[in-house]
Amino acid sequence: MSIVSRSFTCPSCGAPIEHTFPGARSLVCNYCGQTSHLNADDLEAAGDKHLLIDYGSVFEIGQRGAFQEKSFTVLGRIRLAYDGGFWDEWFVQFDDLKEGWIQEDDGQFVMFQKVKDLQTSLKVHHLKVGQWTTFEDQYEKTFITHTSSATVQGGEGQLPFRIIPGEPADFADGILKGRPVSVELLPDEQALFVGVPFRLDQISLN
Ligand SMILES: [Zn+2]
Repeated sequence: MSIVSRSFTCPSCGAPIEHTFPGARSLVCNYCGQTSHLNADDLEAAGDKHLLIDYGSVFEIGQRGAFQEKSFTVLGRIRLAYDGGFWDEWFVQFDDLKEGWIQEDDGQFVMFQKVKDLQTSLKVHHLKVGQWTTFEDQYEKTFITHTSSATVQGGEGQLPFRIIPGEPADFADGILKGRPVSVELLPDEQALFVGVPFRLDQISLN
């Protein structure tokens, strides 16, 4: 894995912020919860400070693990809130540099990988629950099972796109050839992900 390992200071509280992931676009301060965007060589504070309250997840930033015999490092997480609940998505980088997202929702786990960037003109209301979608090419046979509008409550660690706590985050869930699909429509990330559900005894954590 390539390590850049640069140090920044939080624009809000001055604490050190570690930057090891070359593709990072958002860095979140461990101490005060300030999200910052990485611009060339400096950090710019974005949105309100929000420290995520942990609930005793088995994952944490910096943790090493393996999924389907491929080793990964947990680099970040994002928490999405909707009326009456929330779920977390852990951003992981595998040692072969592929990226993944572990969705953790009430003890259910899915490893998602991005298969396609989507056009920014796609809105969640274009996706109809109970119908096949019309994505281009091989992903057109996705059946939409759920749509929701959430907000980004906050993040942690290093993330590959820009987040601002409080911004809208529209989602759709679906099924593609029996596998779970997640369509994520955030201001700085519009993409289609295909996942593999797993149990905790199917991954190894160091
Ligand atoms: Zn800070």
